[in-house]
Amino acid sequence: MNPSLQLRLYDTLTRDKRDFVPIDPARVRMYVCGPTVYDFAHIGNARPVIVFDVLYRLLRHMYGDSHVTYVRNITDVDDKINARAARDFPGMPLNEAIRKVTEKTEAQFHADVDALACLRPTVEPRATDFVLPRADGKADMVTLIKQLIARGHAYEAGGEVLFDTTSMPDYGALSGRNLEEQQAGARVAVDAHKKHPNDFVLWKQSSADEPGWDSPWGRGRPGWHIECSAMSAAYLGDVFDIHGGGLDLIFPHHENEIAQSRCAHGTPVMANYWMHNGFLQVEGEKMSKSLGNFFTIHELLADWPGEVLRFNMLRTHYRQPIDWTVKGLEESWKTLDDWYWVVGDSIGDRISNAVLAALSDDLNTHQVITVLHGLRNKAQSGDETARNELAWSLRMLGFLRESATSWAARRQTNADVDAAKVQSLIDARTAARAARDFKESDRIRDELAAMGVVLKDSKDGTTWEIAR
Ligand SMILES: [Zn+2]
Repeated sequence: MNPSLQLRLYDTLTRDKRDFVPIDPARVRMYVCGPTVYDFAHIGNARPVIVFDVLYRLLRHMYGDSHVTYVRNITDVDDKINARAARDFPGMPLNEAIRKVTEKTEAQFHADVDALACLRPTVEPRATDFVLPRADGKADMVTLIKQLIARGHAYEAGGEVLFDTTSMPDYGALSGRNLEEQQAGARVAVDAHKKHPNDFVLWKQSSADEPGWDSPWGRGRPGWHIECSAMSAAYLGDVFDIHGGGLDLIFPHHENEIAQSRCAHGTPVMANYWMHNGFLQVEGEKMSKSLGNFFTIHELLADWPGEVLRFNMLRTHYRQPIDWTVKGLEESWKTLDDWYWVVGDSIGDRISNAVLAALSDDLNTHQVITVLHGLRNKAQSGDETARNELAWSLRMLGFLRESATSWAARRQTNADVDAAKVQSLIDARTAARAARDFKESDRIRDELAAMGVVLKDSKDGTTWEIAR
């Protein structure tokens, strides 16, 4: 590792950016919350996967590939999964149907994130393997819940086991929520059996047709938060270096993970750095199925190379909100076209120090891209060192997985087919409108929409773009 480079990371818990000092440089440990496997992952789900893949690559570069352990769980027990299994496989025994849904979804998830050039984590534990005490003695959910009860941090009520948030003086520190204010504000909609509205479920009973495990509190299933406390402890220990996820997980999920882990283990912290990526919007709006701007990774991969999606994600610093637009994707694709062409068949063997410095500054990928543009310009004017560094830096970041020739060929196919046909349809529609044949002009608009083309009419004429 280059001694002049000091990695600095922003910690959501302490609200500052500070030097990253691993507990053990020979075993750097990171946990990131993974997918709940019942449906295709959407492009918002791709953000933490890509962001923490970049951090994983940087840590491996700094400490050595075999000295970094990256754990990302798979949530395969969840009421949404049960509902999907019952819907998709009516008549099949529930457990069998659940296994079909989760296995299929997990395979889809892997195919998607592989296409985004994300390395597989060191371990991907499945929640259902960590519910009951294990033969190998690794941490499990039932034992953790027992410990919480024994230490006075959890109680049984109304058929559930609940975490007692009042038993933890600094509960709410991660999200900055004040327990007293919450209690004052929460006048209604509190489950009667809870001692405090913030108390959350560790274990709940299952009916005969729901998945369940036999526990000291009857046949039931775990709450969501306890999964991550168990699986992180199983592979990383009671206290580890980095815990990551999306901003939307800060409350309640990460707040509750911290409460469970610290109170069960009696430790002052769960992880030393809490990292959260910002939200993703599509064309300036919140992504939602009802707005029709909801895109799965799988759908986007039909129209854009995975490296373009990855590059587009990294243009924005991970803590900033990102606006996902077709224009941005087109620009990303053009930049990669150019870089593939400038790099040519150079493999490279050294990373640029300026790239490392930018990455070390709380993963400033926006700045990394500025540095790469500079290297590109030097390489273009014949600087072979710059070409070498451009090539190797891009590879280290997960790009240039294809040869320049195959990349260019793919681009050619994609560009030709659409543009000519789209333009002729637009011309036909303009003619139909001029003839006041609005039925025909609407029909053409629909045909274009079916091709994923969105038209924009203005006084200067009609322009178009690809909707996704
Ligand atoms: Zn989690």
